[in-house]
Amino acid sequence: MRRKITLFLVLAASLFATGSSCNQNITPYPKEFTDVTVLPAQWDGVKRADITYQLLVYSFADSDGDGWGDFRGITDKLDYIHSLGASAIWLSPIHPSASYHGYDVEDYSITNPRFGTMADFKQMVNEAHKRNIRIYLDYVINHSGVNHHWFKTATSSMDNPYRDYYVFSNDPQKDIAAGKIPMIATEGAGGYDGGQWFSTGTMPSGIYKFTLKWSNSQAPTVTVSSGGTPDTDNPDQTTEGAKYLYYGDGICKKFYSKGNGIYELTVDFNSSWGFLVRTSNSPSWPLGTKYGAQQGSSAQLSFDVPFTLYTDYTSNDNIQNLALPGASIYYFHSHFWTDWFADLNFGPVANAEHSPAFKALVADAQVWIDAGIDGFRLDAVKHIYHNETSDENPRFLKKFYDAVNARFKAKNGRDIYMVGEVFSDWDKIAPYFKGLPALFDFSFWWRMNADINQGQGLSFADATISIHEAYKGYRSDFIAATKLSNHDENRARSELGGSLQKAKLAGAMLLSSQGSPYIYYGEELGYTGKKDGGDEYIRTPMYWGDGYVTAYTDKIDPAVGTTVGSVVSQEADASSILTMYRQLGTLRNSYPALATGKMERHPVINPQTGGIYSQVAAWYMIEGNQKLLVLHNLGQGEMIISLSESLTKPLFINGRVQSKKEKEHFQLKMEGYSSAIFEL
Ligand code: MG
Repeated sequence: MRRKITLFLVLAASLFATGSSCNQNITPYPKEFTDVTVLPAQWDGVKRADITYQLLVYSFADSDGDGWGDFRGITDKLDYIHSLGASAIWLSPIHPSASYHGYDVEDYSITNPRFGTMADFKQMVNEAHKRNIRIYLDYVINHSGVNHHWFKTATSSMDNPYRDYYVFSNDPQKDIAAGKIPMIATEGAGGYDGGQWFSTGTMPSGIYKFTLKWSNSQAPTVTVSSGGTPDTDNPDQTTEGAKYLYYGDGICKKFYSKGNGIYELTVDFNSSWGFLVRTSNSPSWPLGTKYGAQQGSSAQLSFDVPFTLYTDYTSNDNIQNLALPGASIYYFHSHFWTDWFADLNFGPVANAEHSPAFKALVADAQVWIDAGIDGFRLDAVKHIYHNETSDENPRFLKKFYDAVNARFKAKNGRDIYMVGEVFSDWDKIAPYFKGLPALFDFSFWWRMNADINQGQGLSFADATISIHEAYKGYRSDFIAATKLSNHDENRARSELGGSLQKAKLAGAMLLSSQGSPYIYYGEELGYTGKKDGGDEYIRTPMYWGDGYVTAYTDKIDPAVGTTVGSVVSQEADASSILTMYRQLGTLRNSYPALATGKMERHPVINPQTGGIYSQVAAWYMIEGNQKLLVLHNLGQGEMIISLSESLTKPLFINGRVQSKKEKEHFQLKMEGYSSAIFEL
């Protein structure tokens, strides 16, 4: 039965395959299975493949022995990056920060001294350019660190130019529901997440109305509400039964009695410590005249909610100051739920380019354009405006791209590269192509990961092609930045059960697919690591096998030290994963069809007709007259595939792959997790 199906498929392939032809120069083809031997790639040295190498500056290469990676270390290792065929490097954030990872930027315009000086940086850029390697900076425009001078100034007083750089609110829930916060404008009350708001530790200022209810003198209450018109000072000098509001720098104002035990006072409130209610304005603070919260209980008021006042006739020390609603002004951070970051405020997207934070980021970008960089990777762009699926973020990103590109183009005469991080599935990513030329294609890896672990390859090419079609709907010249894992995800090899064979397969699939691939440093060495015990486990120092190894952390997956081996040892091993990555890097740069070609579905090995080949992923890569056949066996077991295409020009093999010719068709025997690329 199986032979009949195979025969049918072979006939079908003969009918439907386009452009395939037998090479007449190599005859006769072996009639028994023989190992496929690869023809050496003829690379003219032109970098066509748009391979980017992602590295973490702190973790990559240490030139001065302080344990931290640095610019000079990267400069010294540029030939290594070049050997992978990479034409660009994405650097982790290089600016001063309190954290090791750098995503809490303290100044966008200077280098972190730990990594080197601006001169070191420029030298690195120049040396990279000599090797046709571009430099992309990680630019964190969603938020700054709370140690940035913008934020420190913004929180130093209630009225300074940097207040507009961030989002502040006395009552975020209410302000969001009322549509008063432009960065969270399109979601209404649903946009509120209390875990995303953090106290500045200061008291709010503004107009507040204080209402006392003293009808029950054993349990008087105070209620605070926002807004109104400040009262003039109460001219009544009588002290009998008087009530006072005490706040700020010794301010003591008398309430107006409204009768029936109700007292009211509206003031322009400004106080670093909160307020108290008093029944005496005597400087000696007689016992039983000071009202606040009982020591040890909550002193926090909510707007428009009566708070029962406490006094103590034995000691004034048992009474604590009352805190206004919110205790403080809150600032906003939209996705890490940490108080290290504060989200930048760009105001309504229609006018975002006029916001001071936007202008400041663009001005700081000029520093790096002047330093010679070639592009930016933009962090967390789906979080800039809170609503991921509205058009606000794509609109904002287009404005940001255009503003930075105008400056870049003026200097370089070409467009700047900018890739955005939208950590979501492809359908959420696609609309962001309206804003940026390149976006990381996260689902590419997520699909591949699932396919390899399930040993199912048939749908991989179809899905990739249809997703690219969706991207094209938003931008005709879209750049799908394909990748395996990155600095926020478990290492690819660990996701694949630690298997080196599967890790090699994943690398081969990445570098033989349509897109602009990113290699996350260490992936080419088969690094392992899961982030459960800390993100450092997926940000391991490079084991160079020389003095450049960094030592910023001791959180290192034990398998990396014991089974992976160093760069030096893998360079000497013709079967290492590093050797495979280098071969593919060269191959991808040698063949335009692989570098920039279009992925097309295989006429037989596809979800509709390829049932018996369910573990195989197959596709063509086509550019002009050049056509390549790409095959990967995602299954554990061996697979014999009948093909009508000529297999006389093998360009790449990973794992054991054998072939023979039977009458008019070729048969390919692929062991589990093997890969093969042929020129047709
Ligand atoms: Mg160092």
